[in-house]
Amino acid sequence: MSVKHSLPIIGNSLEANDPAEFDSITPHDSAIRSQSRSGITLRTLGRAPRFLWAIGRHRLKGDVGPHSLTHTTTFKCNYHCKEICDSPLVHRAMQKKPNGHDLTTEEIRDIYRQLPSMDYVRFTGGEPTLRKDFIELSHLAETHLRPIIIHMTTNASLPERVIQFAEERPRHVPLDLMISIDGIDEKHCQSRHNRFAFERCMETLKALSGRQKELKTNIRVNQTVADSQGIEHYRKLHQMLKPFQVRHQIVMAYNASATYAVERDKSYAPSREELFTPVGKFENTELDAFFNEVKADIRSELSGPERWIQQYYLDGIRERMLRNEPSPNPTCVALSSHLRIFPNGDIPTCQFNSHVVGNLRLQSFRDVWNSDLRKTQFEWVKGCAGCWAGCEVQPSAAYTGDLLLHQLRS
Ligand code: SF4
Repeated sequence: MSVKHSLPIIGNSLEANDPAEFDSITPHDSAIRSQSRSGITLRTLGRAPRFLWAIGRHRLKGDVGPHSLTHTTTFKCNYHCKEICDSPLVHRAMQKKPNGHDLTTEEIRDIYRQLPSMDYVRFTGGEPTLRKDFIELSHLAETHLRPIIIHMTTNASLPERVIQFAEERPRHVPLDLMISIDGIDEKHCQSRHNRFAFERCMETLKALSGRQKELKTNIRVNQTVADSQGIEHYRKLHQMLKPFQVRHQIVMAYNASATYAVERDKSYAPSREELFTPVGKFENTELDAFFNEVKADIRSELSGPERWIQQYYLDGIRERMLRNEPSPNPTCVALSSHLRIFPNGDIPTCQFNSHVVGNLRLQSFRDVWNSDLRKTQFEWVKGCAGCWAGCEVQPSAAYTGDLLLHQLRS
């Protein structure tokens, strides 16, 4: 399978912000910039100076403003995932998180207006397609944040909405569409507590996989491996997906995420003694064989930055799960190059620490970013032992240059 790749890391915009201080961040008005393919290419090339500047700052442990956004647009979800919703650490209905209702479209517009340009904007949830304005948000992102890539993570429970998103979001901006699957057939359905869950994923893949080029969309199936059965299902799913020409990647399920915890200000960050705590139990020999198999697939099927990032994740998870060694271990860019916004406007520290540094419904981005609280939490991030969740690893690998260095070392 030869797969086109794209990564939200190469380049930045012409505006070289010095976002260590918010005053140097230029907000954008609503004028829509070039919507052509060459516009995106120029946008990408123009951001190279800022990207290189960010790498330098991170390597010196300096403060850097956001270049990438993970926007959890809602915690509402129409499934009930075994690994997340049934966790004793997690509220059974995430929409009942006691932090207020989701931001309105207008509130999001106001927030995006205040933010600097972003290399990638990632919409996630809950299930992001449950918001009525899920397409409009992508246009707001393009107008105000001018991403090089738009990303959406979806459970594909509503195929028609996912298809609609691929067709109606700003088409000149490449879409990285990630469909979450936990295994084939019953395994996925049981995991999501919905008997149609797998069928809907396949329906979405059938409808979109042949249109990836036309829709400027790269589809990835992201399999969460929680137990030994998940390893078996990797093999089956990999074969099943071959005709679709979509990328199939894995993440190992970790046992706690502060993002979905009931309590605010919760930290499940790893310690040096325990770098990665999986949900399930695995034998080292089966893990070793599995990682070798995935590595062989990556080598034979991917190329360029996409291959680098998948290998990077795999090398890191192997070291952590088999040897409890933090290698690679990039400087974390949470609360600096990587900004998270929760549905109610809260800005949490990171995936594993829900300590909130401000709320964009109630405060301006300038105030939050320059606040002592944000700076204090940024110091905490710098002292963290380093987690290994894909959505945090990727920006850290990219904006510190560690992705490239690791590749050169391999
Ligand atoms: S490495 Fe970064 S994202 Fe991961 S737990 Fe530590 S601070 Fe959070």
